[in-house]
Amino acid sequence: MNEALSASCRTTCPYCGVGCGVLAADNGDGPSVTGDPDHPANAGRLCVKGASLHETLGAEGRLTRPMVNGQAVSWETALSRVSDAIRQSTASHGPESVGLYLSGQLLTEDYYVANKLAKGYIRTPHVDTNSRLCMSSAVAAHKRAFGADAVPGCYEDLELADMLVLVGSNTAWNHPILYQRMKAAHRDGRRVVVIDPRRTATSELADLHLSLRPGTDTHLFNGLLAALERRGVLDQAYLDAHCDGSESALAAARQSAPDEVSVAQACDLLPEDVTRFFDWFAATDRTVTVFSQGVNQAANGTDKGNAIINCHLATGRIGRAGATPFSVTGQPNAMGGREVGGLANTLAAHMDYGRPDHIARVARFWGVTELADGPGHKAVDLFDAVLRGDIQVLWIMATNPAVSLPDSERVREALRRCPTVIVSDCIANTDTTAYADILLPATGWGEKDGTVTNSERRISRQRAFLPPTGEARPDWWIISAVGRALGHERAFGYECPADVFREHAALTAEGNQDGSTRPLCLSGLMDLTNDDYDQLAPVQWPVTPAAASGIGRLFADGRFATDNGRAQLIAVTPEGPVQRPDDDWPLVVNSGRLRDQWHTMTRTGRAPRLWQHRAEPFIEVHPMDLLRFGVEEGALARLSGPHGAFVGRVRRSDQQRPGEVFVPIHWNQQFASEALASSLIAPVVDPVSGQPESKHGMATMAPV
Ligand code: SF4
Repeated sequence: MNEALSASCRTTCPYCGVGCGVLAADNGDGPSVTGDPDHPANAGRLCVKGASLHETLGAEGRLTRPMVNGQAVSWETALSRVSDAIRQSTASHGPESVGLYLSGQLLTEDYYVANKLAKGYIRTPHVDTNSRLCMSSAVAAHKRAFGADAVPGCYEDLELADMLVLVGSNTAWNHPILYQRMKAAHRDGRRVVVIDPRRTATSELADLHLSLRPGTDTHLFNGLLAALERRGVLDQAYLDAHCDGSESALAAARQSAPDEVSVAQACDLLPEDVTRFFDWFAATDRTVTVFSQGVNQAANGTDKGNAIINCHLATGRIGRAGATPFSVTGQPNAMGGREVGGLANTLAAHMDYGRPDHIARVARFWGVTELADGPGHKAVDLFDAVLRGDIQVLWIMATNPAVSLPDSERVREALRRCPTVIVSDCIANTDTTAYADILLPATGWGEKDGTVTNSERRISRQRAFLPPTGEARPDWWIISAVGRALGHERAFGYECPADVFREHAALTAEGNQDGSTRPLCLSGLMDLTNDDYDQLAPVQWPVTPAAASGIGRLFADGRFATDNGRAQLIAVTPEGPVQRPDDDWPLVVNSGRLRDQWHTMTRTGRAPRLWQHRAEPFIEVHPMDLLRFGVEEGALARLSGPHGAFVGRVRRSDQQRPGEVFVPIHWNQQFASEALASSLIAPVVDPVSGQPESKHGMATMAPV
């Protein structure tokens, strides 16, 4: 058992994007956690995952020492092996032969240093993150509409709205504390519409559940936009004053979804349900539309996001209390990673590869003559580049791509072929660490110090209350040590995470010196002392000297972050999923999370009570498909698809639409040999965002 570092501290939960505050303590009789009553996200509440955090701690199963080719080595040896591999690869094959694959589990400080090392000093643009699998379509939609990756609203809007529309978002399981806040609002008389092919736990809150055909959200929201025009409720004054593109967006909507009947047919819904939704939306000024992975994880995920945002812009329902489109993030720090340029197509501080002035500004700030030429490979392409041999050194941090990326067998083959795989992780044995030539032990939750940003742009501290396990080190420390070993002593001379945070904040201020309206600005935090940083209370960006307490709602003045300050409506042409069922693969596979597990279960799998909800891999099957495929409730069945197979226990469920099955994403090969949901998902991606189509695989099914 770890020796206690401090009696108690305020920190944040490391799981979903709600970003709940946690009071953690180790008073000598083992760690304990409770909800932080003073944190604005959760006001003292925790879901079962958060409440079980203390059960996931301890040294068992942890990676405690650096390892090279299976042998424990000193940090000095491991760091010199990493720097030698990078140096040799860049000398022989060029800097772009090095790739980094990061994670929304990293803290913002870790992410910042990783990007600086890669894009500024190794000069490879190939830095991507598992946030690509989760949020990148929402990022792309935000940038197209607002000119910046900025979530306009805040959690309070969920309570101030008169209607909540939840699209592709099973918040009851995936953002449970937000769901509790929504439930309380619903009890107070707010209306809730749930748009999801499945009837999920969230649907229990629904006054109207639209169980649409998967992938037809753009039809529905184009239909809504056209219907809003027909009902005469567009806010023409707002469009004239603050938006571009409304005519082409409306033309596309009218053309593709001219009336309720055509929308109902395209979406496989009852016309009267479509009409009811359109009527409610038209009549409810204070509406919040929450969207999540069901929207993002599609080959047209960016268009789906823009179709939703179009409806809010066209009615002026943005930047106001209780009126906003609201993308909720999956991971605890998906947004923090985006802030520092954790996606291959972005630069730090929300600057962009498409802008020579941004490239020059970041290079100047980092003290380098030039940055890596970008954009780099997005997640699926990155592993393809490894498979081709273009990437010779791959450094993976805090994520398990052998389980989570589509077509997992292809990912494993890429890892097998890669000459040097480096993995930084806090867990010793994962499906991915099995392929590592060099393993670097990272500190885990409770041992790490830094910041994260939740779904409402709120930066919170994650604080250490336990000493590192074994020889584990913080990720920012490991990356900085490699930077120094590569000869960049000064650029990576950070002594603590506060040093990194101040630099990140200063770069956001630098990024706004052109008088732009880019909302990400932390100029009010760039001079924090170490004590200030230690005491930092949760705060929503932007944080400037003029807005030292942060800002809850963006774009309230109708000024956006585009070059001309106007929002952009996007003309959306509905396109269905790329992976479509056929005679060989007649079933649609929907993959998603469970209430009580997180990602590939390397941590939640350690808490016994979290197994009580669902103890084994399963396949949810509509009763008609039980008969059609000859499988029985409670028996094992195998889903076989073009890229692999999944074995699970059959659960009869009339919550599914016929012809569609649901499988959980969490099982890795440590827990079950043939239950990787990703093996049923093709590496098909949204052409704008690069996000995989994880909600629409295809398979056939047979008894085992
Ligand atoms: Fe953690 Fe999310 Fe649960 Fe909050 S809702 S306790 S952030 S898993």
